[in-house]
Amino acid sequence: MGETYDKYYNYVDLTERFRSLAQRHPHIANLSSVGRSVEGRELWVMRITLDPEKDSPGRPRFKYVGNMHGDETVSRQVLVYLVEYLLSRYGEEPRVTELVNSTDIYIMPSMNPDGFERSKEGDCTGVTGGRDNSKFSDLNRSFPDQFDGTTVDPGHIPEVMAVIRWIQEKNFVLSGNLHGGTVVASYPFDDSATHHLQGFYSQSDDDSLFRHLALVYAQKHPVMKTGQPNCPDSPEETFSNGITNGAHWYDVAGPL
Ligand SMILES: [Zn+2]
Repeated sequence: MGETYDKYYNYVDLTERFRSLAQRHPHIANLSSVGRSVEGRELWVMRITLDPEKDSPGRPRFKYVGNMHGDETVSRQVLVYLVEYLLSRYGEEPRVTELVNSTDIYIMPSMNPDGFERSKEGDCTGVTGGRDNSKFSDLNRSFPDQFDGTTVDPGHIPEVMAVIRWIQEKNFVLSGNLHGGTVVASYPFDDSATHHLQGFYSQSDDDSLFRHLALVYAQKHPVMKTGQPNCPDSPEETFSNGITNGAHWYDVAGPL
């Protein structure tokens, strides 16, 4: 810490930064890639836990993924800062030390490194097309749909295929996916069998737990917790307590 941040880390910066952090903190950090993007960029994951070279049975696995929409860049940068924070405060801040000792934490700052490189700072309307991957796929609409069974050509979405393999291997107990835009904590499910466009509460079996987690997250955020309109694209949008069921907000189907 103690450094000045005045720009986003591009792919080269991020790669160098993560390699150096993993080298400096080998007892709590391990860098790996779960696959490659269309253009061959690594999908970096920093694993942060005590003795990260070993299996840690009984330690719950948690993951954060950022930047699946390549132009939603804050989600990527804050995850780099989170990695730096956890690594630099370990052994000094009891809460961080306890988290890293008791949890198997995985952080992927960018699921769409190609889209990020295409994005232009200040282009708030996405005209340069950084949202999608390099095969014009929206990665947030390319996972298999739980209700319809429609799929995307796997050759167009290596990033999604890599993340599916990773999820199946690790069996995460909890995950968060960070986006840009509206400030809200959205919890499962994101769609329903009928694909109502809006206003249909699609409840999962863990609904009360997800609601609780979303509330805890939102209440820590001075803007999110107000639930007041905060996105220029949706000036009328409000959220009770800064949270929403994903499908109730709007239905995000899988491949269309
Ligand atoms: Zn997004």
